[in-house]
Amino acid sequence: MGKKTPFITLDQAKEIAAVYPTPFHIYDEAGIRRTARALNQAFAWNKGFKEYFAVKATPNPFILKILREEGCGVDCSSETELMLSRACGFEGHEIMFSSNETEAREFTLADSMGAIINLDDYTLIETLEEGCGIPETVSCRYNPGGEFAIGNEIMDQPKDAKYGMTRAQLAEAYRVLMQKGAKHFGLHAFLASNTLTNAYYPTLARILFETAVELHRETGAHIAFINLSGGVGVAYRPEDEENDIMAIGEGVRKAYEEVLVPAGMGDVRICTELGRFMLAPNGALVTTARHEKHTYKEYIGVDACACNLMRPAMYGAYHHITVLDKENAACDHTYDVVGSLCENNDKFAIDRKLPKIDRGDILYIHDTGAHGFSMGYNYNGKLRSAEILLEESGGAKLIRRAETPADYFATFDFTDLKF
Ligand SMILES: *Cc1c(COP(=O)(O)O)cnc(C)c1O
Repeated sequence: MGKKTPFITLDQAKEIAAVYPTPFHIYDEAGIRRTARALNQAFAWNKGFKEYFAVKATPNPFILKILREEGCGVDCSSETELMLSRACGFEGHEIMFSSNETEAREFTLADSMGAIINLDDYTLIETLEEGCGIPETVSCRYNPGGEFAIGNEIMDQPKDAKYGMTRAQLAEAYRVLMQKGAKHFGLHAFLASNTLTNAYYPTLARILFETAVELHRETGAHIAFINLSGGVGVAYRPEDEENDIMAIGEGVRKAYEEVLVPAGMGDVRICTELGRFMLAPNGALVTTARHEKHTYKEYIGVDACACNLMRPAMYGAYHHITVLDKENAACDHTYDVVGSLCENNDKFAIDRKLPKIDRGDILYIHDTGAHGFSMGYNYNGKLRSAEILLEESGGAKLIRRAETPADYFATFDFTDLKF
């Protein structure tokens, strides 16, 4: 069984908590840079490779700036994500706009920033024309339908996914877009989420490469890039085997050499839109044990709740928990670790073997750096936590303050209330 190691010590956590009380999300700058460099190295064989970080995973300007310094672009899916990216200095083809159910004004904004627009649906061609006309470069999202399997293992059910166009719609979209002036095309698909196999990207890549060759032959379209999107997962559980990004890059290279190069398409750029892989392990939720409760089960109540990390409540997702400074203590207690929401799914862990937890202990919930803070909400009047960056220098920098009650009330004007 692998061991999951926190990137801060109890002393560091206490020092930070003395200034910024728990709960808070903390991110590891050194880890983020390491991950980005490893990804870029894994795809260095492809001229023009670019990672477009999925902003929705961790929409914090300080994080986005670090990623930009490492050569990453951004993948946005809404007006506000575009605005955030613009404020961080992203421009032009550093931005991929992979939205769905898009409004014309969102296309207007994306186009005004020079973003690459990735169309989720055939009918969005009309919305695109309305919003900004047809740009020279357009990408289309493919949904092959059916089941997506790797070998004998079914990974997901594209036929049930709301995203993307059918194969026939894809060809028609390319034709129509070309008639309307588009010159360069992208092809995108996202067929399985949080995959823990080095075969996901290579398998997806082969499908997209073969489809790109066919589309080029059928329509004459110039395919400039292929976007493998997100979906490369992380080892949330200690027993999970981590993905090997070098092996993944090599697997995609092999498919590229076998499919695209012989078809005379050896100039196609590869793009990715990873969120989870880039950030999840490089973030943690730090929370303090506040209460213990002994009824039909043993409960530890902490000061964070599902509003700070929704994945366990929403998907039953596993997040490993380390009790700081008790890393080597025997896990001889069984707890439910719970938040304070009036919702019985507000549990970070159920029947989890942990060391004896005392009130005041600091719990480190692993792998919350992506789809953690960003999925937060305000149920029960709970407030979003602070976000802190553990800088490469070792300093702790506040990169988003915690919400206050005034933030919760900011969308009312009490002076206007008439009963
Ligand atoms: C969510 C999303 C991603 C990122 O997915 P991860 O699982 O975090 O890698 C990338 N592209 C699109 C279009 C998405 O919706």
